[in-house]
Amino acid sequence: MSTIGVLGAGQLGRMLALAGYPLGLRFRFLDSAAEAPAGDLAERLRADFDDLTHVDAFTDGLHRVTYEFENVPLGLAEALARRVPVYPPPAALAASQDRLAEKTLFRRLGLPTAPFARVDGRADLERAVAEVGLPALLKTRRYGYDGKGQFLIREAGAVAAAWDRLGGVPLLLEGFVPFDRELSQIAVRGPDGSTAFYPLVENRHAAGILRLSQAPAPELTPDVQAQSVGHARRVLEELAYVGVLTIEFFEEKGRLLANEMAPRVHNSGHWTIEGAQTSQFENHLRAILGWPLGPTAVRAPCLMLNLIGAVPEPAAVLAIPGAHLHLYGKTPRPGRKLGHVTLCAGDAGQMLDGLRRLRALVPAEPAEDG
Ligand code: AMP
Repeated sequence: MSTIGVLGAGQLGRMLALAGYPLGLRFRFLDSAAEAPAGDLAERLRADFDDLTHVDAFTDGLHRVTYEFENVPLGLAEALARRVPVYPPPAALAASQDRLAEKTLFRRLGLPTAPFARVDGRADLERAVAEVGLPALLKTRRYGYDGKGQFLIREAGAVAAAWDRLGGVPLLLEGFVPFDRELSQIAVRGPDGSTAFYPLVENRHAAGILRLSQAPAPELTPDVQAQSVGHARRVLEELAYVGVLTIEFFEEKGRLLANEMAPRVHNSGHWTIEGAQTSQFENHLRAILGWPLGPTAVRAPCLMLNLIGAVPEPAAVLAIPGAHLHLYGKTPRPGRKLGHVTLCAGDAGQMLDGLRRLRALVPAEPAEDG
């Protein structure tokens, strides 16, 4: 029986374990948080990710190590990789932890992106604004997620305010893309080079947090899907990738621009648990173990709604035809992802009706736009 070590014991780790138990796998998690959704299901070592003194205890008896968040310290990933195979490869972590490295990789591989320029100091910012144009987003290069560490510069008068807010750490200035919608590609690659791709998903965010995903993305043309698969394939090959990779795109007039990638299973892939022939979680495990990848075809079109800040009455959710409830066992707090509901309905009418009923149970937070 194989035991998988997972860095991070949040909901993604929990869903990995839930997918792995039917395959006969065991899990051990490493996380420093007081509350750990995956800790309800499996052994958990509570330690800081920067503390390498626990590496031997953590890896003892493990067959593979993987991770559920991309800000794993590289030193830890490398120390672990000297003892146990770590997938996805630490090189993918390095690329995804730094927005400049990530966009530079995309550009080198021919993936279109928004125009961007590095900003290391105040003078660089003026030069970058001249190069990229306005409006533009000033972003921290590291530790930015869910829209944190960003400042929208609408016109030249706001440059100083942007610097006051974010200056002092390595930054990136990025042209603002007037996109039609946001899409994500979940892809998976095994160590033998085999690959599989889920259909593109359309994502709606509010206050920087994913609210709603629709899978497959509506009105998806074969051309846009082919662009996405081509882009993802290039990144997978370049990194000799093993596991699930997520790339987030902006769609603008039928063209995809790569925004960022996550070397892990992703919130926009939760629908695959019920909606695809093999879930992203199972396929991630299959990939890192060198087992055959499972088919990614759609079983049913789905909507996935995140439960943020509060959880509705389970019985009310489950009364909606086609609704599947997933709760992560977390203490409610504003802005916190506590669970999700996947709605897989037989036809468009049932889906709309289900969504309407679901929205009545899940009050929109003030910033919600989707
Ligand atoms: P990120 O942290 O890069 O995922 O950005 C969070 C959100 O900000 C994205 O999901 C987009 O909605 C928006 N955003 C990020 N970069 C851009 C951009 N260059 N142009 C327009 N919107 C952006």
